[in-house]
Amino acid sequence: MPAKIIAISKTFPLETIMPLIEHGHLHYGENKVQEAKFKWTNIKNEKKNLSLHFVGKLQTNKTKDVVKLFDYVHSLENIKQAELLSKYENELNKKLKYFIQVNIAHEKQKSGIDPKDTKNFIEICNSKYDLKIIGLMCLPPYVETTEKYFSMMLDLKKSSQIPHLHQLTELSMGMSNDYLKAIHYRSTYVRIGTKIFGERK
Ligand SMILES: *Cc1c(COP(=O)(O)O)cnc(C)c1O
Repeated sequence: MPAKIIAISKTFPLETIMPLIEHGHLHYGENKVQEAKFKWTNIKNEKKNLSLHFVGKLQTNKTKDVVKLFDYVHSLENIKQAELLSKYENELNKKLKYFIQVNIAHEKQKSGIDPKDTKNFIEICNSKYDLKIIGLMCLPPYVETTEKYFSMMLDLKKSSQIPHLHQLTELSMGMSNDYLKAIHYRSTYVRIGTKIFGERK
């Protein structure tokens, strides 16, 4: 399967995104809930096959809106979030698909779960909260050795499989600068903003 392209449309108005939607592209990503609600609520009602991916930080008071509007979340990283997401899925009778965000380079300033805790966390998300975890996501450091981290993510995906419980099939990694490298390490979803829409202000 070729990698799917998520067009990261944050900061751009719907009129800039519209030609791509009309062309038939289906996957879009946003990182701010308020902005996404404003831009996507109507068009998603009109075009049922569009998929919206949340790639920002999950905040408690915005979680319900995330479940309402989005189809995928790439930034699930702790139990409290899992519990809330599960609560709103039940309330709204809707199921999303989740990536676990992994802090693959152990960077202090970055979000994400420790690689060694990943498998256990997935197991809890599945068994206790009934969340559909489809893969792993990372935001590796911008360094020469990015490939090392992509390779570690591929290994972590393999070692995080839980037999009979679910299949962890997806990897969300690679942005405008490094998507070709990410695809080399079998990324299945690349998140591209700048290379599609231009520089952000
Ligand atoms: C903005 C963003 C991207 C896209 O970045 P570009 O370098 O513009 O392609 C990808 N992933 C996340 C999580 C982002 O916030």
